[in-house]
Parts: sequence; structure tokens; C-alpha cells
Amino acid sequence: MKRVAALASMPKEKKDPSFRKFIQRLVARKPKNLDAQFFQAHQEVFAKTDCLTCGNCCRTTSPMWNDTDIQRVSHLFKMKTSAFLDAYLVQDSDGDWVYPAAPCPFLDLTDNKCGIYDHRPKACREYPHTDRKNIMGILGLTSKNALICPAVTQILEKIEQIYK
Ligand code: SF4
Ligand code: SF4
Repeated sequence: MKRVAALASMPKEKKDPSFRKFIQRLVARKPKNLDAQFFQAHQEVFAKTDCLTCGNCCRTTSPMWNDTDIQRVSHLFKMKTSAFLDAYLVQDSDGDWVYPAAPCPFLDLTDNKCGIYDHRPKACREYPHTDRKNIMGILGLTSKNALICPAVTQILEKIEQIYK
């Protein structure tokens, strides 16, 4: 399952853990400085977030592997690309290369460390994408990621405070 899927346990006290209605209001409002507001909230939240105590993205979803990722990690393992693909990845219905199942095979489940950290896919490096430009274009994805990533929930709570 790619990282757009909703799998994480949801905070019981929050009625709308995907912030669906708030995001609909935000889309209608089209604020001009949303990228900067998300970037600031992202920096603040991740300054206090220890992903090694969470690991939920790596435990429950798969990144999409692009060709460069596949070449890089195949080379790291001294494997032919075809052998690497056979061993670790499958193509989903969109034609994207993903893991056949969660958790990620390179995740150490005892400490949430990534076994290929310096070589990990671009999608892993950029997750959860809340510091990127044109955040308006991925608010739907961000809503889904709020169900996976507790940091995204905190970031959206900060943005919600600005527009309440
Ligand atoms: S490659 Fe590393 S960062 Fe990416 S999902 Fe696996 S453990 Fe997580
Ligand atoms: S789900 Fe979010 S907080 Fe948890 S490890 Fe992944 S990026 Fe970090």
C-alpha cells in the first residue's frame, strides 16, 4: 500500500482526523502564503519529533520507488536491477514500484531504524511532504497522511489555528 493510504490508529478524541472539512475550507479560501505557513509549522513540529519512536510510515505504507532509487539501492546491494526488483518490489495497478506488503523490508522493527538510510528512496526522504512548494496541490494527500503520520496531524492543527 502506498503512502497515500489510511492505516494508522486515529486519535479517539478528534472527530475528523483527516481534517477533511478544514482542508475543504482552505481550498475554497486559496490563501496566498500557505506554503510559508506549512513550512514554518513543519519546521516547528519536526524540531520536536523523534521519528525513531514512531516509524508508522515505514511500518504501514510503501514509498514509491523511482528508477534512480532502484538503480542506487541495487548497486548498494551489488545486485542486478532485475534481481533487486524480484526480491523486494512489485508494480501496483498504477505501474509504480512498491513493496508487496508492509512493513518495509529495510526497517529494523526493534528500533525503527532504516537499514538503507543514506540510500533510501526519494519518497522516504521527502515524506510527509509538508515543507514542499505548492502545498495547495497536495492537500488531499496531506489529509490522508494525517491518518498515518502524527507530525502531519500536529502541522494541520497549527495551520487550523491560523485560520479558525
Ligand atoms: S526505505 Fe527506510 S525510510 Fe523508506 S520505508 Fe523503508 S525503512 Fe522507511
Ligand atoms: S509517520 Fe511521521 S512522525 Fe512517524 S516516523 Fe513517519 S514521518 Fe516520522
